[in-house]
Amino acid sequence: MTIGILGGGQLGYMLALAGYPLGLRFRFLDPSPEAPVGRIAHRVTAEFGDEQALEKFVHGLEVVTYEFENVPVQAARFLAKRVPVYPTTIALEEAQDRRREKRLFQRLGIPTTDFVELETHRDFDAALKQVGLPAVLKTCRLGYDGKGQWLLRSQDDVEKTRRELPDVPLILEKFVAFARELSILGVRSRTGEIAFYPLVENHHRSGILRLSLAPAPHSSSALQQAAEASTRKILEALDYAGVICLELFEVDGQLLANEIAPRVHNSGHWSIEGAVTSQFENHLRAILGLPLGSTAAVGFSTMVNLIGELPDAEEVLRVPNAHLHLYGKSPRPGRKLGHVTVRAENFEKLQQRLGELPAFFQRPEFCLQEARAESLAKRA
Ligand code: AMP
Repeated sequence: MTIGILGGGQLGYMLALAGYPLGLRFRFLDPSPEAPVGRIAHRVTAEFGDEQALEKFVHGLEVVTYEFENVPVQAARFLAKRVPVYPTTIALEEAQDRRREKRLFQRLGIPTTDFVELETHRDFDAALKQVGLPAVLKTCRLGYDGKGQWLLRSQDDVEKTRRELPDVPLILEKFVAFARELSILGVRSRTGEIAFYPLVENHHRSGILRLSLAPAPHSSSALQQAAEASTRKILEALDYAGVICLELFEVDGQLLANEIAPRVHNSGHWSIEGAVTSQFENHLRAILGLPLGSTAAVGFSTMVNLIGELPDAEEVLRVPNAHLHLYGKSPRPGRKLGHVTVRAENFEKLQQRLGELPAFFQRPEFCLQEARAESLAKRA
């Protein structure tokens, strides 16, 4: 059985690694001849819009999925006429446009941040008047890892941003002074079976995820249930199959939805070692209509992203229960090159192990200080 995957980055790489024990084969489509999956699977190098290449790519595939939500919907539709494509193209459309995403939250009664839609940059002043400062301006399409986003705290920021504004649809959101950022991964099988992973606490720098703590410390069952209820609504409304990630802000004990990712997600990488079944395996099970595996956490995990440069592998691997994942990409500033997951049976032990990581990780951008017991206790 061969699974087709659109996008050949690290998420695709880890999907394939999770699928090989199940006897699955993989074929990837990615425009870049450098896409890391080329090392471990059949990679077709072509633009997503190249219908001739799509026709060749799809031949003999069981099902197609994607690891990248900015795949052109047109390409997904073209493929869906030939083989099942999961998650459905509707999920892709909803997630590609922040306005549609927000409207979906509102339609389903999922609390989200206050926002105003801007048809063009000419609506900037009117939107500012409505939302006020501080605010976050975001392009509706093609924004990720903090790209296509402007934080507006002062009038100076407003003037500077005004000069950079692209003439595309935007949304202006009220800045949320959240207590913390959380995410939940849900998975729905083609059969309708649904499961949820425990809430994860995430720390970002410059809009990029740096560290995840799983399960999120000090998270009540009420919080977990609220996150599950929102995710369930989305999964059912989109007749979804596969893993979805809902990113949330926690404010005064309540959850506000920020965005969805209709795919496996960086905040779920911990599940490879930290859960009974990883998000990658469960995504594959879901799109094939197989029974889902348990999403229960095994102890406590911290996942740290390796961005732009790599630590000494030996020093990482010396730490008990530290797992190093390298994606086979050449180092470039800002590029996600790999991640490290450290797991332990209890929170105290996890703290100890994090303290044993090499000096490389002690720099502030790794956010390890945010995972320390004192810092967590302060936030509790
Ligand atoms: P996004 O691309 O929407 O996930 O935003 C990237 C990051 O920017 C989030 O993870 C937050 O850290 C921050 N952010 C986005 N929107 C807001 C907001 N309305 N208020 C405060 N911070 C935000």
